[in-house]
Amino acid sequence: MGKSRRILQAFLVVLAVFLFTGQADAAEKGTVTGNNLNVRSAPSLDGSVLGKLQNGDQVQVTGKQNDWLEITYNGQKAFAHKAYISVANQTSGAFAISVNGKAVKPPTTPVMKDNHLLVPFRVISEALGVTVRWDNDTRQVFAKDNGKKVIMTVGSTKVNVAGETVTTPIAPSIQNDYTLIPLRFFSEAFGANVHWDQDTQSVTIKRNENSNTPPPNPSDTPNPIMTNTIQANGTELKKTPIASSSTLATLNKGAKVDVLKNDGNWLYVSYNGEKGYIHSSAVSASQSPEVSGMTLKVTATSLNVRSSGSASSQKLGALTKGQEAKVLEMNDTWAKVQSGSLVGWVHTGYVTLYKNGELIRFLSAPEKIDGNGRTTFVWHKQGNVNTRQIMTDNGVAISTNANSIGSFPFQHPGIKSVNTTDGSYGKQIQVILAPGYHYVVRHSGGDVQLDILPSGLSGKKIVLDAGHGGRDNGATGVTGLLEKTLNLDVTKKLKAKLEAAGATVIESRPDGAYVSLSGRVDIAHQNGGDAFISIHSDSFSATSHGSTSFYHSGENPSWQQSKKMSDLAIHYLSSELGTHNRGSKDQSFHVIRETNIPAILIEVAFLSNPNEEHLLKQDWFREKAADALFKTLQAYYK
Ligand SMILES: [Zn+2]
Repeated sequence: MGKSRRILQAFLVVLAVFLFTGQADAAEKGTVTGNNLNVRSAPSLDGSVLGKLQNGDQVQVTGKQNDWLEITYNGQKAFAHKAYISVANQTSGAFAISVNGKAVKPPTTPVMKDNHLLVPFRVISEALGVTVRWDNDTRQVFAKDNGKKVIMTVGSTKVNVAGETVTTPIAPSIQNDYTLIPLRFFSEAFGANVHWDQDTQSVTIKRNENSNTPPPNPSDTPNPIMTNTIQANGTELKKTPIASSSTLATLNKGAKVDVLKNDGNWLYVSYNGEKGYIHSSAVSASQSPEVSGMTLKVTATSLNVRSSGSASSQKLGALTKGQEAKVLEMNDTWAKVQSGSLVGWVHTGYVTLYKNGELIRFLSAPEKIDGNGRTTFVWHKQGNVNTRQIMTDNGVAISTNANSIGSFPFQHPGIKSVNTTDGSYGKQIQVILAPGYHYVVRHSGGDVQLDILPSGLSGKKIVLDAGHGGRDNGATGVTGLLEKTLNLDVTKKLKAKLEAAGATVIESRPDGAYVSLSGRVDIAHQNGGDAFISIHSDSFSATSHGSTSFYHSGENPSWQQSKKMSDLAIHYLSSELGTHNRGSKDQSFHVIRETNIPAILIEVAFLSNPNEEHLLKQDWFREKAADALFKTLQAYYK
């Protein structure tokens, strides 16, 4: 701890003591702990607003009515909600605290402030079995248990409970070098049951392990998280979230309520300015006609349920893998769902959708992303959508097993048209390119991407794969030339030419080190490569001779582009090097099979042939091999 921090802490203690002990007469001093706190003419939300108080304002508190404090405002009697005023009516006494029958002995006297008991955070955390940490820089208490986190800040009534901001009735404070936190709030945040006995001044806390029930209800007036519609006449608005609680109002079918907090079986709502609880079964869970009969099942480990169809909206809860929910409404890539009492929005990229029990699949309307010298369109898969691609005369068709595909709303100079048509197994996306443009289609579990690239090598990401390396020598020539060394040299020569032409080169094996075959594929995919060239030389018999180029037509979805590139490669290799043209062949080599971009593997010549090994030893010959591959890519991206 730094010296200045010690001084600050000492100052805060003095300040706290000053604030908490300055009472003597009938009027108590209150400190406002929130901004824009309404001052009202009556102790209810119906009272007219006389003005506003700001954080840190001092007020005289002359009385109390339910949740409201009577204060003096501009010389007049007025009211403000007690949640945002800290009153210095501290009394200290012998409070008995027990957790699960065991007495808790705080190292300092607990403080009763505004009817809330504050205790040192460590003693209560330990008693509850909650892991806790103090951060002196931020003056925050970090508590966690069973993956649930609670963060409290000294001087603030805002508490982060499992990622959500909740308000405590009283802010944590520092007193006598101890950080005190509100006992009830903290215990309830970790699912404990808290009972206060006024006569004996004792607190009895019971907590089962793994009991992380939702946090206590907010006592302030949070922003509504959504509006819901009452489904039945005679729905009762309750004062507290229990069935026997007094009824504040009776609501009829069609009434709209603003949901302030989802508290499990009960919703804390605002209805015509009145706040109370309704049972969650009372509100709308009706499906819009277009999603009639639709349900979803979560495919991600955990899927957030949010207050609206946006990743930045408030998190209301989460669904876990395999959990099912009723779809109430769809909006682009988001679905409004109901699961038990939880109603909110989920991203449909992590679900499978069903209509009347039958799996449905579709692709969302695409997103457009500009950058890296290209434009990328991304269609998100919803349901178990599989995609493939077919090269066409003037572009590409992305075939799918989807029932429907969102419309393509974009204009792009490289695209003449994008249309959805019927394919063999489902809908397909027909892309017709303008002259002077190329494409790469990338398939993954969650989406399918279309990159539109202008012609020319500039801006292309070329993955060069020098065959073998490290402990793997590859073939050995008749006089001992190692294939791995030769492959790396041709790769370096080609790299220099491509970079001079403005391309970006990604080397799967930049030096002599060994890289596994799957590692090479990963490098290609992780770097967003546009094309993959694996460079080798052959070995069989002393009379074998010539150059070969390979593509793979099975698993690689870009195989037609691979074949086009392979055909060009064998043409340029044989003509530049004067070698025998052994052809462009379909072959299942790992690196051209497992890659999903256009990928070829070339064999420059035979190391087992004394004449060809002699040529492969010549720098000019390897330079020509690199030239041939450079011309291949130049022609491919023409
Ligand atoms: Zn090889």
